[in-house]
Amino acid sequence: MFPVMLNVRGRRCLVVGGGGVALRKVSSLLQEGALVTAIAPEPSQPLLRLAAQGRVALESRSYRDGEASEYALVFAATDDRSVNAKVSRDAESAGLWVNVADDPELCSFQLPARVQRGSLQVAVASAGEAPFAVRRLRQLLDQRLGPEWGQWLESAARFRERVRAAGLSPGEQEACFDRFFVETVDRERLTARVPPAHEVEGWFEGHGEPQAAQPTPPDTAQPAETAGAGLVSLVGAGPGDPGLLTLRGRDRLLNAQAVVYDRLAEPAMPCDIPAQVELYCVGKEAGHHPVPQEEINALLVRLAMAGKRVVRLKGGDPYVFGRGGEEAEALRDAGIPFEVVPGVTSGIAAPAYAGIPVTHRREAVRVTLLTAHESAKDGGPQVRWDLLAADPHATLVGYMGVTSLPTVVSRLLTAGMDPSTPAAVVERGTTSGQKVVRASLVDLPGRVVASGIQAPALFVIGPTAHHADRLDWLGDLPLAGTRLVVAPGAASLASSLEQAGAELVMVPVPLTPAARIVMAALPLSGCVMHGAAEVDALDAERGDPGWPHDVAAWCVGQRAATRAHELGWEPLHQVPAGTDATELVRAIVAARTRAPQG
Ligand code: SAH
Repeated sequence: MFPVMLNVRGRRCLVVGGGGVALRKVSSLLQEGALVTAIAPEPSQPLLRLAAQGRVALESRSYRDGEASEYALVFAATDDRSVNAKVSRDAESAGLWVNVADDPELCSFQLPARVQRGSLQVAVASAGEAPFAVRRLRQLLDQRLGPEWGQWLESAARFRERVRAAGLSPGEQEACFDRFFVETVDRERLTARVPPAHEVEGWFEGHGEPQAAQPTPPDTAQPAETAGAGLVSLVGAGPGDPGLLTLRGRDRLLNAQAVVYDRLAEPAMPCDIPAQVELYCVGKEAGHHPVPQEEINALLVRLAMAGKRVVRLKGGDPYVFGRGGEEAEALRDAGIPFEVVPGVTSGIAAPAYAGIPVTHRREAVRVTLLTAHESAKDGGPQVRWDLLAADPHATLVGYMGVTSLPTVVSRLLTAGMDPSTPAAVVERGTTSGQKVVRASLVDLPGRVVASGIQAPALFVIGPTAHHADRLDWLGDLPLAGTRLVVAPGAASLASSLEQAGAELVMVPVPLTPAARIVMAALPLSGCVMHGAAEVDALDAERGDPGWPHDVAAWCVGQRAATRAHELGWEPLHQVPAGTDATELVRAIVAARTRAPQG
């Protein structure tokens, strides 16, 4: 067997058949830009949809003798071997390459199983001798090769351009390429990274003068895959407080096979997502977009095409400044079924936790959710600051607003907004890391800088913001700002701790990968544990990211306390087994007062 990569862009390709296998061939061909004709007497719904969108020329009828000869590449995937054989014969006699699904004898070419990350493709094939082995090997590679490989390849392509332009000898060029590979690929773990520009700069030292980086065209490649398409649930995780994840969101997460999540969603992730579920972090923190949107879309398509139940977990609500709409479009274009599970958006919840009702009968009758990120930069729509400034009975909630706050405020003031309008900024609203700054509009930017507010944060401007001073229900709770890991043996104390204002991380023991992610998402204050086994399990985690050295042990009963003592856990507190939660709350408050770092 001779492997090739075919450029099918703009070529006429024929797929005979209307079932799942044919559909996958059609989708793969479309993604590579082929002009696809499908012939099927009873086409499936997704195929009809693609036809209705004008993406496929669909002939809803039987295959006619000889018609395969008009195409560049021919696929047969009907459940009738005689039809498949006829298509194969016609193609052969016209001198065309033909593939018949699951029938090597009728094929003049076969398709490899493949793993795709952006433009990087790894193909696996066995000349038809052991397809089962190929499938398993592909699956293994699919698990081992993270989404970063697509970006890595892009950066390799950029690097190649630069090396080429630097006027080096062939030997020097090869040395640069070796350097790139050695520095960016972990060959043991099969992971890769994208080197920052300044690092690449250093690799040229002694190898002539590097040229300025070439802008690369955006990656439009979408991966194509095998197997029937699974469902993708676009789930809103809510603003951070784990209690604000919806029931349906939780259900989808516990039943998923793969979860693709943003950093913002980490604190609200259920810790009991089973250990075998694949978890993909695709970043998205202010200022850091480690995985480009194209790659995220491609990952969702790839996982779903592999037949998986996928959850795309996003902070807040998926359709509120989360690019959820773009992901839904990508799924629709790939013919993948999806659903949306809305979430509690931070723009409403964070103000609520800061004591600000976004509407109020006598004060504000309109709420505007806006992004202060200048989408106008890339030709997008502009915010009409003049209209916003003119309405005194409205609340303005600004997402992604920390860095652009000074510009926003000056635009509003220039447009005539009252400088004494109440305003606030809420950082990490609804979580144990919540910080609120209250000031009049004109003073807000200065106060925000002075108080060291950082993303994620949003601003609230409007008459109701003054309530923050009076309706601060959260700040009045004794355990506000405390983040406690609660092990299963102490679960009966959970609801009281939570009502006292603590953020709880309810972990299973043994710990799951999801629990580790949640624990590391925000700093912890303490662990509430019962029995020696729970102490052992959590002690093993100390020292990991998110674990300050002073995470307290709250031991329920003597055995836990003895074990924590043996392990040198410090600070260490013991409460009697069977203690009631109010006792524990009181003890934690007392300990915090003694050591105010909480
Ligand atoms: N889809 C999300 C918003 C994503 S945009 C939602 O519906 O909430 C990211 C921005 O949301 C951040 O820059 C910040 O402005 C805001 N944000 C998200 N979570 C937040 C939180 N817990 N507190 C304050 N702002 C938050």
